[in-house]
Amino acid sequence: MKKEDFLIRIPYDTFADRARRLENRIREICAASGRSPGDVKLMAVTKTHPAEAAGYAARYGLPCVGENRVREAIDKIARAGCHMRWELIGHLQSNKAALAVRHFARIQSVDRPKLVARLQRCCESEDRTLPVLLQVNTGNDAEKFGATAEEAPVLLEAALNASRLKVEGLMTIAPFDPDPSVARRAFASLRELRDRLQDRFATPLPELSMGMTGDLREAIEEGSTCVRVGSALFGPRE
Ligand SMILES: *Cc1c(COP(=O)(O)O)cnc(C)c1O
Repeated sequence: MKKEDFLIRIPYDTFADRARRLENRIREICAASGRSPGDVKLMAVTKTHPAEAAGYAARYGLPCVGENRVREAIDKIARAGCHMRWELIGHLQSNKAALAVRHFARIQSVDRPKLVARLQRCCESEDRTLPVLLQVNTGNDAEKFGATAEEAPVLLEAALNASRLKVEGLMTIAPFDPDPSVARRAFASLRELRDRLQDRFATPLPELSMGMTGDLREAIEEGSTCVRVGSALFGPRE
């Protein structure tokens, strides 16, 4: 049996309760840091959880779901049977670019010029425009994908020159570290990089996708506009 064939372990009410509590927490952090709560989207990350998890998110009214593997996501999109905005948040191999372009509303993990070129060609054959975020490894974590901050200008230039891609902002995954100041630094670096790139290329980059279950507070305080939450909504992944 494939993982997605298992039934979801929590009832909808438990999910809804967790989502409400998360929204309250986001509101509190926003209020304390002088931000407007409407500026921070809550994305439900459904990876490793069954298609029903996306159904819960849709029923509750969350704006989007995130998946980190193309094949796993396509399976779920077919099963979920609900209108949802699916976004790719995991590493994208070039040979899966066509599938990704066909199935996702946005790709948050664009991290190299070669992938930009590939996505542009796939968008041309699908005759679509693709919203993207550029993934930057501002925490310099050897275990994470993403362009380095130094590579970011070349990557952005390539993406801005790709007529079918619409660059909406930047994404990062902070290094896993019990010391919260490590994540905070990675998030602040992404915001500062965004500010520099906006100036240099005279282009708006409003979206900062940063923050997960464990580093939500730091991310919002440093300017996140999209937090990607899995475990706090669906429980731990095995
Ligand atoms: C899994 C994942 C998340 C969610 O992580 P949690 O700690 O479960 O909230 C967020 N972003 C990316 C890129 C992920 O792969």
